[in-house]
Amino acid sequence: MRILLSNDDGIEAAGLRALEEAAAPFGEVFVVAPATEQSAKSHSFTMHEPLRVNAHGHNRWSVTGTPADAVYLALHGILPVRPDLVISGINRGSNLGTDVLYSGTVAAAREAASNDVPAVAVSLHVPDGAEVLHWATAQLAVAQILARYPARPLPLGEVLNVNVPNVPAAEVRGWRTAALARRRYAVMVQEQRDPRGRRYYWIGGPHDRFDGEPDSDGPLCLAGFVTLTPMSLDTTAHASLPAARALGLEDTCFTS
Ligand code: MN
Repeated sequence: MRILLSNDDGIEAAGLRALEEAAAPFGEVFVVAPATEQSAKSHSFTMHEPLRVNAHGHNRWSVTGTPADAVYLALHGILPVRPDLVISGINRGSNLGTDVLYSGTVAAAREAASNDVPAVAVSLHVPDGAEVLHWATAQLAVAQILARYPARPLPLGEVLNVNVPNVPAAEVRGWRTAALARRRYAVMVQEQRDPRGRRYYWIGGPHDRFDGEPDSDGPLCLAGFVTLTPMSLDTTAHASLPAARALGLEDTCFTS
């Protein structure tokens, strides 16, 4: 099995090294990752400046762009072969619920899925102030997925999103398949002044709560389960197609 690894924390990230170790026994591993941290860059593509690729030892490359850039270039320019599977991570911090809209980790997997390559995103839930990161727990989750998932992948174009609680492996309560929650963060806008007196801002507050069902991914991961969520590229709200039609616009003459 040929496995492409990427992430959004950058080529030097501890979580990527942990992922490389976990994947190595399962096949030939390639790494194409952003040169620098790209967390919360979502699925952005670099189209107005050049991308540079640098080699970092055997089968390892960095790309001076986003996670989506890295996977796109890996699949269509860097790798000598098409991978059988792409794994993105292990992210430092969970990607639970609506985090997936902002996540570069998930976007790297989504870019692979967009190219019809089976894709998994793996993230370690790191609560604020956590002093120990249990990468080994996430590595065990990766190994369990690699032992089973390639034989029974999701349909092409879908992504498996995995979140691992930050506890020793012996304290994990098990696996749960779960829908995405809605994650709420405290609103934070801090206004500062630069040395020339001009305003600048820092945005983005700490985790507040999860809304949605108690058996959705956020509450379950916080309760100590490894969560598994299948995600589709299709973000259509199919149940609301009738509501959109009920606007009646289809029945109007466009120019009148
Ligand atoms: Mn990240």
